[in-house]
Amino acid sequence: MSRVTKTHPRAESLRIRERLVDGFKYGLVVPDGLTAHGRGEAFDYILGERTSKSARKAIEAAVAEMLLAKHPVISVNGNVAALVPAEIVELAKLVEAKIEVNLFHGSKKREVAIAKYLRKHGAEEILGVYFKFSTWIPEINSNRRKVDRRGIVASDVVLIPLEDGDRADALRRLGKRIIAIDLNPMSRTARAADIAIVDNITRSLPLMIETAKGLSQKPREELRKISEKFDNRGNLKASLRFMLERLENLSRE
Ligand code: ATP
Ligand code: MG
Repeated sequence: MSRVTKTHPRAESLRIRERLVDGFKYGLVVPDGLTAHGRGEAFDYILGERTSKSARKAIEAAVAEMLLAKHPVISVNGNVAALVPAEIVELAKLVEAKIEVNLFHGSKKREVAIAKYLRKHGAEEILGVYFKFSTWIPEINSNRRKVDRRGIVASDVVLIPLEDGDRADALRRLGKRIIAIDLNPMSRTARAADIAIVDNITRSLPLMIETAKGLSQKPREELRKISEKFDNRGNLKASLRFMLERLENLSRE
């Protein structure tokens, strides 16, 4: 049961915070995850806490690519698990993606807690948890990153919600197509991605599920067209303009 009053003007935002704080108590989320969420919230405030037209376009292209991919993988960290566990599992089923636990602040205990939490929400196979399938890829800041040979290593398309810029870059250098979900259109992650969805993960995941239900009925040729016509740079500029226009309007009210 939520502790937030229904009539509070920021009720939805506070309920999302509650989920993260609960995630922290269950050992899914680390303190850094709480502060990273705060950075996201600030951008969401500017967006007016709704999904822009450019985010919808990115969502469509992202789902098309995941459906076209041979080995799509969804990378899950503590915040993602705390915020949208059931949605991750449902999307993975719809686009036939593998789910891999992949943490910036890695710890065996937290990996296992996240995998358990995802299983509770209907996941069957969770990668990234068994040492015998682990390997390491080079990274700039944190030096090495652990990945699963059956997951990210073998993947062609990776969905990385709420990811750090160095890690996004590292995956890109491995030749993967990268789909990011990041409220900050200026972050290195959003710019390194092939497709960046500038939206709150709590809104974009349900929209991705809806979109996957629709697009999975379409011919591959149509999906290819959707993916080819997407331009990440142009779309990020549109997201920034959306924020700018909203601030302009607010400043005139
Ligand atoms: P980068 O490393 O990409 O330059 P950063 O260092 O500013 O970005 P990180 O802490 O590495 O940020 O990653 C967290 C990112 O996740 C932030 O850009 C933040 O906007 C985003 N974020 C946090 N919470 C959410 C959320 N609920 N939905 C979408 N994005 C979020
Ligand atoms: Mg970072």
